[in-house]
Amino acid sequence: MNSTFLSTPVSRRRFLQQIAVAGAATLVARRALAENLPPPRKKLGIALCGLGNYATAHLLPAIKQSRFWQVTGVVTGSRPKGEQWARDLGFPRKNIFSYDTMHRLADCPEIDVVYVVTPNGLHARHTISAAQAGKHVICEKPMAVSVAECDAMIQACRSHGVRLMIGYRLHYEPHHLELARLARERTFGPFMTMSGENGYDVGDTPDRNNWRLIPSLSGGGPIMDMGVYVIQAVCMAQAETAPVSVTARFGPVTRPKVFTAVDQSIAWTMDYADGATAQCLATYADTVSKFRAEAAGGWAQIEFPAFYYDNPVLTTSRGQPDLPSVNHQLAQLDAMAGEILENRPSHAPGEMGRRDLAVIEAVYAAARTGRRTPVRA
Ligand code: NAD
Repeated sequence: MNSTFLSTPVSRRRFLQQIAVAGAATLVARRALAENLPPPRKKLGIALCGLGNYATAHLLPAIKQSRFWQVTGVVTGSRPKGEQWARDLGFPRKNIFSYDTMHRLADCPEIDVVYVVTPNGLHARHTISAAQAGKHVICEKPMAVSVAECDAMIQACRSHGVRLMIGYRLHYEPHHLELARLARERTFGPFMTMSGENGYDVGDTPDRNNWRLIPSLSGGGPIMDMGVYVIQAVCMAQAETAPVSVTARFGPVTRPKVFTAVDQSIAWTMDYADGATAQCLATYADTVSKFRAEAAGGWAQIEFPAFYYDNPVLTTSRGQPDLPSVNHQLAQLDAMAGEILENRPSHAPGEMGRRDLAVIEAVYAAARTGRRTPVRA
C-alpha cells in the first residue's frame, strides 16, 4: 500500500482520533469525518479494470470527487481507450495494462488497489491476477459466478496478503445502514417476514452483445445482477446471517427471443432457522425495486427504488428517519479508503460476497429440482 498517504504523524493522529470519536456512527459519518481531514499528501492509487459503463459513468466521477483516491492506471482490452484515460487523468502510459499483462502491475508502485469492473464471469480471473501482483482488490458484485471461484479469490488474496472487498455500495448507504441497525438492535424485535424485489426491463430486442444474457459471462439471469441486492437486504435484516435453506422457481418466459440462454425472472424464498422467511424476486422484464421487513413490534420498508443509485427512502412504523442522501459510489470508496488506511475489517469483505453466491447457487439448484435446498454458506 502507498505508505505516504497520511504519513505525517499529525494528520494521521488526527485521522485516528476522529475515527475513534465517531464511535458507533455510521460509515457515512466516518466518510464525512474523512472529508474534514487536511488534503492528504498523496492519494491512494486505483486502477480500474474494465472501462465499461459502471466504471466510466459511476466510479470515475466518484473517484474524481474523492479526496482519498486517484486513478493511477487502467486495465483494459482497448489500448486507445487506455491512452485516452491516461491523457485525461494524467497517469503515465506505462500504467495502461491489458487483461493479459496484469502481472506487470507488480512493478507499478503508484497503484495500490485494482477495482475489478468486468463481466461477472471474469471477476475471479482478474481478482486473482491483481492479488498475485500484490494489489488490494475491490471486486464488483456479484463477486463471481460460483462459490468455488469465490474460494479461489479469497485464497489468492489471503496468500498474497492483500484485501478483498466487494463493491456493495448499499453497505455504505445511510438508509440501508439504518435497516441493518434496526435489525441488529432488534428495535422492533426480530424481523420475521420479509419481501423484496429488484429488476429492470432489458427490452424486447435480442442483443447478442449484452454479456448479461450470456451465461459464461453473467453466471445466470437477473438474480446475478439485481437479485444480489435483495439477498443483501434480507441478510442485513437478519444481522448478516445466511438463510439455512431456500425454495425457488423460474418465472415464465414471455420474451423467448431475448431469454434464450438465461432466465427472465426468478422467485425464491430465504428461510431461517428461527422461522423468519423472505419472499424474493429478481427480474429482467419489469422495473421493480423495494424491500419490506416486519417484526412483532413494527416494520421497516425501503420504497421504490430501493436498490438503484437514486437515494432510497426508508419508512418504518415509527415514521421516516431523517437520513442524509449520499453519492453511493463516493460513500463506498471513501469508507473503503478508511478501512484500508486504518487496517480495519471491511464491511463488505470477500466472505460476504461468497455467502451471497452460496445463496444464489442454492436458489438455482432449488429452481432446477423443485426441492427445498440447504444453503452451504
Ligand atoms: P459493461 O459491459 O458496461 O462493462 C464491462 C467492461 O468489461 C467493458 O469495458 C468491456 O470491454 C470489459 N470486458 C472485458 N472482457 C470482456 C468480455 N469478454 N466480454 C464483455 N466485456 C468485457 O458492464 P458494467 O455495467 O460496467 O458491469 C461491469 C460489472 O460491474 C459487472 O460485474 C456488474 O455486475 C457490475 N455493476 C455494478 C453496479 C453497482 O451498482 N455496484 C452497477 C452496474 C454494474
